[in-house]
Amino acid sequence: MDRSFPLTRAAGLDSLSDFLAGAGAAYAANRNTDRGPEAEATTSGLSPYLRRRLITEAEVVATADRAFGDGGAEKFVSEVFWRTYFKGHLETHPAAWADYRTLAAAGHDRLAAEPGLRRTYATAVEGRTGIDGFDDWARELVATGWLHNHARMWFASIWIFTLRLPWALGADFFLRHLLDGDPASNTLSWRWVAGLHTRGKHYVARAENIRRYTDGRFDPVGLDEYPDALDEAMPPREVPLPRGDAAPRGEIALLLHLDDLHPESLPLGDAKVVRLGGLIAHADGASRRVRSADMAAMADALARAEAHFGCPAGDVGTDWSGGLPVVTAWAPVGPSAAALPQGSLRVRRAWDEAAWPRATRGYSRLRSVIPSLLGA
Ligand SMILES: Cc1cc2nc3c(=O)[nH]c(=O)nc-3n(C[C@H](O)[C@H](O)[C@H](O)COP(=O)(O)OP(=O)(O)OC[C@H]3O[C@@H](n4cnc5c(N)ncnc54)[C@H](O)[C@@H]3O)c2cc1C
Repeated sequence: MDRSFPLTRAAGLDSLSDFLAGAGAAYAANRNTDRGPEAEATTSGLSPYLRRRLITEAEVVATADRAFGDGGAEKFVSEVFWRTYFKGHLETHPAAWADYRTLAAAGHDRLAAEPGLRRTYATAVEGRTGIDGFDDWARELVATGWLHNHARMWFASIWIFTLRLPWALGADFFLRHLLDGDPASNTLSWRWVAGLHTRGKHYVARAENIRRYTDGRFDPVGLDEYPDALDEAMPPREVPLPRGDAAPRGEIALLLHLDDLHPESLPLGDAKVVRLGGLIAHADGASRRVRSADMAAMADALARAEAHFGCPAGDVGTDWSGGLPVVTAWAPVGPSAAALPQGSLRVRRAWDEAAWPRATRGYSRLRSVIPSLLGA
């Protein structure tokens, strides 16, 4: 399977069609199996597009429902909502992101000071631990920017519970290399594996499960299969969901960012876009592959926006907005939100507006209302 991910909307839509015509039909049965980077995929591979909203959750879900009929896409739709859940959860628990960043920085300080930890970390990220599967996934991630969901779960679990490495350093390793690297899905998934997201419930990688769901490609020995979950003194506090802004009437300057690159479908009301710009804020330490994917995605979005709104994109410098109100798509917690100019108006999509208030606790609360959300 070629996972080269050209980061354009057209390529995202092609991947969606390919998936619906192929692996989508057996998604629920096969999605847990990781056949490896050379084999036919069991999942959609849409996450690099969804993460940047080159394609939107709403259109992916609607297209899958049309393709498979009532209930036929249920498992796939539920997985797409995991993404929505994590985004909404981080919006209402932003300390999880701030704490992760503090822990990752502290982890890097420890690497500089502690030779033993530094050695273990180096063997892990270079794929030299001797643990079957784990080493292959470390190399696959660096070489391709991609890992199957189950491989991410096994990898994170072995990182935390067998190698006893700090979880935030693992999350940082993922964010640097994943083409779909996302503050919410990545941070909260690592916390979930560690037993911090659902307190006390951790994900333990077992050799038998790895053998089974890799079609026998890997058979690791020496895993700690009976570890305790991690704990923390102060779980991230819940805060009220911040409100989105309405776009003003009249002329505006529209600023695109890497969390939402489908400006054609933004809820802009009666605003008239007369200036366009793009803000690129990469994840800390993002690999060259991730940075060029970000640039390609932004170039694609700006070209589409120019055609759609009929105005050219300019360099975002001091005079870029010409004094007009600057409007952006809502930037969820992460690098884009931190880099947006003060005072920009942030409009939120109906999808997030409806789902995020249900994402404050566990996933099941959001899952139970999926039919009514989609009906609305
Ligand atoms: C430790 C760890 C770290 C992860 N880091 C990220 C990350 O940085 N960015 C990211 O997008 N996903 C992350 N995930 C979630 C998941 O692994 C990927 O979204 C999924 O593998 C993408 O493959 P796909 O597009 O083929 O998914 P499919 O199975 O085809 O699912 C369709 C879409 O649903 C969403 N989705 C599916 N499963 C999940 C899930 N468990 N959590 C959140 N969204 C999901 C994705 O947007 C995906 O594209 C992580 C999971 C783990 C265990």
